[in-house]
Amino acid sequence: MLGEGIVQGLVETARNFFGSYFEKDRLTTVQYPEQRLPLPEASRVFPFLLYDGSDPEAGLRCVACQICEKECPPRCIHIDKSKDKKPDFVGKPQFYPAVFNIDVSVCMSCQICVEVCPFDAIRMDKVFELSTDDRFGGLLYTKQELSRPNEYYQKIHPVEAAETDERRVKEAAEAKARAVAAQAAAKAKAAAAAATPAAPAAGSSGNVATAPAKPAETKGTPP
Ligand code: SF4
Ligand code: SF4
Repeated sequence: MLGEGIVQGLVETARNFFGSYFEKDRLTTVQYPEQRLPLPEASRVFPFLLYDGSDPEAGLRCVACQICEKECPPRCIHIDKSKDKKPDFVGKPQFYPAVFNIDVSVCMSCQICVEVCPFDAIRMDKVFELSTDDRFGGLLYTKQELSRPNEYYQKIHPVEAAETDERRVKEAAEAKARAVAAQAAAKAKAAAAAATPAAPAAGSSGNVATAPAKPAETKGTPP
């Protein structure tokens, strides 16, 4: 029937309007900002950088690979790679971002930077009250302003953070096992090399075969 969908929508609106006087669940509005509705797990606003431990510099997961910078559609990420390296969560020396800025006035919250990051270093925040009268400086977030501890991530995205943590623990254990195996192999190789006798030098009296002595010629001997 023509207009059936419109009628259904109006009926639902009317049910919620009158029903809200009797059923609390139908009262979908709250007195913001005094009252706030909990945001769903998947809600996202702008990206932030993750760090492990208590030191945002030492624990920063970002290795300045610049993949997110290249993939960001409006190009609102700017990264300068460090000259030196620091160990990552498996102890491997990695570069880190000397500068990591995001211009959130340009960011379109697409989450592509999160999807492409191979190091679980960038995630989407839920904070949306970011209004400022400083259009440029006020919305250009630096590395220091973007850095958040893993505990913060666990609080705002508990399901996603649990999956990430589990995977990273597994990766760290595998890296440790590989390092132990490599160390054991190196030790075994060194022990085998030490047990092998050294080859004698050429011309020494070892196992070197010597040519039989030629019989001395006797002058004047008849054939
Ligand atoms: S969410 Fe999208 S637009 Fe924003 S920084 Fe990431 S890739 Fe760029
Ligand atoms: S956030 Fe991820 S993708 Fe972006 S530079 Fe850092 S490690 Fe690379």
